[in-house]
Amino acid sequence: MNAPSYDTDLLVVGAGPAGVAAAVMAASLDMRSTVVEAERVGEKLHRIDALENVPGAWSAGPQLADALSQDLARLQQVGRCTVVKARCTAVAGHKDHAELELNDGRKLTGRAVIIATGVTELLPADVSWISAPNEFSPAPLWRSTPGSLAGRTYVLGGDRPLGTWLRAHFEIHKQLYVLCPPSDDYKTAEIVHDERVHLVPVSHIAIETPSYGSAWTVRVKDRRGAEKAYSIDTLVNNLGTKPAAIPGTHQDQDGYCPPHLQHPRVLTAGDIRSGRFQRIITSQGSGAEAALSLYYDRALPRS
Ligand SMILES: Cc1cc2nc3c(=O)[nH]c(=O)nc-3n(C[C@H](O)[C@H](O)[C@H](O)COP(=O)(O)OP(=O)(O)OC[C@H]3O[C@@H](n4cnc5c(N)ncnc54)[C@H](O)[C@@H]3O)c2cc1C
Repeated sequence: MNAPSYDTDLLVVGAGPAGVAAAVMAASLDMRSTVVEAERVGEKLHRIDALENVPGAWSAGPQLADALSQDLARLQQVGRCTVVKARCTAVAGHKDHAELELNDGRKLTGRAVIIATGVTELLPADVSWISAPNEFSPAPLWRSTPGSLAGRTYVLGGDRPLGTWLRAHFEIHKQLYVLCPPSDDYKTAEIVHDERVHLVPVSHIAIETPSYGSAWTVRVKDRRGAEKAYSIDTLVNNLGTKPAAIPGTHQDQDGYCPPHLQHPRVLTAGDIRSGRFQRIITSQGSGAEAALSLYYDRALPRS
């Protein structure tokens, strides 16, 4: 019987903390990896100004993102890793290999694949308490610089990045009007006493397309059913996140991709696994562990 053949030992999708840790671990075990990244290495970290709970001297996301880039550059120099800039559009596990489809039409094969695509922004169309035109796509708060928040600024949702953003920009004295549905109430404890936050409890909001030259209008229904319309200068998205699942992975009821649901040749690591383990240190640990488990898994034949 012919030995199975594939392009590389390990395919990794996503070059965040989990994906890079997987590639580093694979290299230390003499495995070759190909890392597919849609944006840039450490994309999310580049936008996190203040980091907490990360061992080492990392207090800012861009520092850690640069370190991850250097890790991958070092692996590439010694021929242990290839980095491909593309978006992965599908994954499949087969009897003797795993396969990825990329948005540029390429297909990559490996002995196994680690999916480490993290989470991505929830959009207004994903939540039932907002009605908005299809073209309405507000910028995420956590990617916004204070200078980009012009005039009267509304924040859609009370998810936790708001607290991080306020801590990172303690020098900013701008008032933020936070449109908060009942489902976000429990997340607002850390910001409710911040004098820059004006919480607006809502049950539903409707966003209306601006007519020529005017601003967006938001029609707010409060928790007692009373309605009010506001004209908005700036509106930013703080709705939270959803798993960046790839077609071909198996999702649980919340859309996450826990490892135990996947094909034996498709492993998952980092934030994509669950809403409960979303930290840098757990992402790194799970990425490294996934690569190590592949090394020890005799049931998956090598070429
Ligand atoms: C505002 C904010 C502050 C945070 N602060 C902290 C903190 O202080 N301490 C802490 O421990 N954690 C913090 N976190 C959480 C931390 O950022 C995540 O837990 C960690 O980044 C998850 O790592 P990951 O590798 O699983 O995913 P990510 O870092 O999200 O990386 C996923 C990568 O996959 C890429 N990707 C996605 N889809 C595809 C695709 N289809 N094809 C190819 N590539 C794809 C993305 O571009 C990205 O580079 C914070 C998060 C946010 C949003």
